[in-house]
Amino acid sequence: MRRSVLALFVIGVFLIPANADWSEPKADAPLDGFSMPHARIEREWESKFRALPDPERQRQYMQLLSARPHHVGSAYDKQNAEWILSKFKEWGLDAKIETFKVLFPTPKRRLVELLEPTHYTAKLQEPAFAEDPTSNQKDEQLPTYNAYSRDGDVTAPLVYVNYGVPDDYDRLGRLGVSVKGAIVIARYGHSWRGIKPKVAAEHGAVGCLIYSDPKDDGYFGGDVFPKGAMRPDQGVQRGSVLDFASAYPGDPLTPDRGDPNAPHMTKDNAPSITKIPTLPISYGDAQPLLAALSGPLAPEEWRGGLPITYHVGPGISKVHLVIESNWDIKEVNDVIARIPGTGEPDQWVVRGNHHDAWVNGAEDPISGQMTLLEEARSFGELLKQGWKPKRTIIYCAWDGEEPMLLGSTAWAETHGRELQEHAAIYINSDGNDRGYLAMEGSHSLEHFMNEVARNIEDPESKLSVFERERLAGITEAKSDEERKELRQRPDLRMGALGSGSDYTTFIDHLGIASLNLYYQGEDDGGIYHSVYDDFYWYTHFSDTNFTYGVALSQTIGTAVMRMADADILPYQFTDLADTMQKYTKDLQKLLRDKQDESRERAEELKEGAFSAAFDPRKPTIAPPPEDIPPHLNFAPLENALDVLSKSAEHYKTAFDKAEASGFSASEAQMDALNQKLIHSERGLIDPAGLPRRPWYKHMIYAPGVYSGYAPKTMPGIREAIEQRHWQEADTEILRVAKVLENEAAIIDSAAADLGGFQ
Ligand SMILES: [Zn+2]
Repeated sequence: MRRSVLALFVIGVFLIPANADWSEPKADAPLDGFSMPHARIEREWESKFRALPDPERQRQYMQLLSARPHHVGSAYDKQNAEWILSKFKEWGLDAKIETFKVLFPTPKRRLVELLEPTHYTAKLQEPAFAEDPTSNQKDEQLPTYNAYSRDGDVTAPLVYVNYGVPDDYDRLGRLGVSVKGAIVIARYGHSWRGIKPKVAAEHGAVGCLIYSDPKDDGYFGGDVFPKGAMRPDQGVQRGSVLDFASAYPGDPLTPDRGDPNAPHMTKDNAPSITKIPTLPISYGDAQPLLAALSGPLAPEEWRGGLPITYHVGPGISKVHLVIESNWDIKEVNDVIARIPGTGEPDQWVVRGNHHDAWVNGAEDPISGQMTLLEEARSFGELLKQGWKPKRTIIYCAWDGEEPMLLGSTAWAETHGRELQEHAAIYINSDGNDRGYLAMEGSHSLEHFMNEVARNIEDPESKLSVFERERLAGITEAKSDEERKELRQRPDLRMGALGSGSDYTTFIDHLGIASLNLYYQGEDDGGIYHSVYDDFYWYTHFSDTNFTYGVALSQTIGTAVMRMADADILPYQFTDLADTMQKYTKDLQKLLRDKQDESRERAEELKEGAFSAAFDPRKPTIAPPPEDIPPHLNFAPLENALDVLSKSAEHYKTAFDKAEASGFSASEAQMDALNQKLIHSERGLIDPAGLPRRPWYKHMIYAPGVYSGYAPKTMPGIREAIEQRHWQEADTEILRVAKVLENEAAIIDSAAADLGGFQ
């Protein structure tokens, strides 16, 4: 989240010359991938499109879709799917529902009890507030829980583990505290939530509680709901703890619907279900538990915002934790709408956002779903006015995203072969707020997305969203180098995709170039996955006049139209090559830092620094010695990067030349080139997949095994270095070099095709 930007930016507004204001692009401005006559037509249609999305309609969609709880398997979730279907049809799109069966556990019994040194029974209940009319729908609300926690009934001492990531356990070790046989209490944040029970179990814990500390999203950050946007004392973050990053996302019982030989699992042997019982609690419920801990004082960075002294534990604390779920098979209903292409119907542009929520889900996911719906309605209007998209456009309202991308994974795996053959791009969103455009995705689309961002007006500053993002970035840059890049590099850098939303199967498993887009950075909130994420909260504390909802419809709709209509698909590869150079340098630095740290540790152990600093009243344990990492041979990767950079330059030169001459080529020549471009991202996957997680086939982007949502770039190499598997790191360098060479060959061949245009 970019909390510091606004204050700085307000000062900046007065310094921007008036001529920097956004205006509709000129009709004769060139457009990547379009001949001049086609660019003019495209710009006209795009301008018409951008005038259509309507804030009042978005407000109505949100009010209706978030009126009642709509989690997987609920009556209202089904009703919403049918309503979305009827709207798609009403707007003239060819739409249907595709249904899949999935395992979806819901709570039967939940108990958290402090037995010693005092007695306390956790409430595990979010109260209704009179101001907030949907917070009282108790009969339909899912209780607070972590989906796919294993059932269990355990009584054990309690240990506080901070965020519960691997580094926190190293620190605990130095304090002489073990979690073996204990229940851990971790706070939300700094990793995807499912990492916390996974790492706890690896260290021998028997249960896991996860709470929302007020320092992270409660009263420390602002007034709490309903007075303010932040988490109230009994508010709880629900959420899935399925270990998707080390295995696979989607239904834990069907590892890959696209593979007829994939085994069918049971809930007892599915590798993605947690090893220990796990339950989320509020800070109201966490406070008596944390206050009961004695043992070492928690390190300073571990202390949260509760009015207690944070100890690590365990002391004489004892906690009783019981979780039992109904392990039912439920239906997920994906709503899929098609606009058939008139020129190249076999080339697809796919766009999605989920419709299911944990409870009412106004922000997550309806603030994204409402923008998707306005895009679809506006396209319906344009079709009536005579717009003829060249490629097929597919709109997807996914079900079952929250439990673990159930609907999108089932659909993308089922249609995997067709998608790999036909899909040029997948564009995702998953909620929206006010602020700056966040762009994440495949770097072959970085230049394309920058061009789109230049053509969208920011509702608050009246600059282009590109310019606002660039200038805001300068105010918060951490180094001169970063500022210099923002001033000089033509394109803003795009983030890599990790996981956490429905793009995962498209990019990580199928190798389809993907984007994830949203506005963010101006509104904090503490209602994530609680009963308070509802229409009342959104219309009081977020994009209250829905102008950023309209901006997101304009942004994504423009991207969809441009991809669907271009003569030549507007991928560019120079930003990709530049990003691969950067990732390689990052890896080389990671290795050097590891070597330096290990050397320093060895030196301090040798000179007796740890025993000299030892305080017998606050005993600590010296860290164990570790081997100094060997040098790795990055040469194959560096050679591949040279080849890739050359191909990317070669393609850009050929592309600019062909564009200047109006892409004068036969339909067959254009088609052959577009086919190659559609498959270009597939060059970056290896069918054998990543080490120990073969479902993940992309060699450049993946969610981290120990970070979850946060991406790991060149993940095979990076995680081998982080986990000190030196031989594996060497092998993975060769595999990444191989896919970059594949990619370069595809790009070269596409450049040769362009050279044949006259
Ligand atoms: Zn979501």
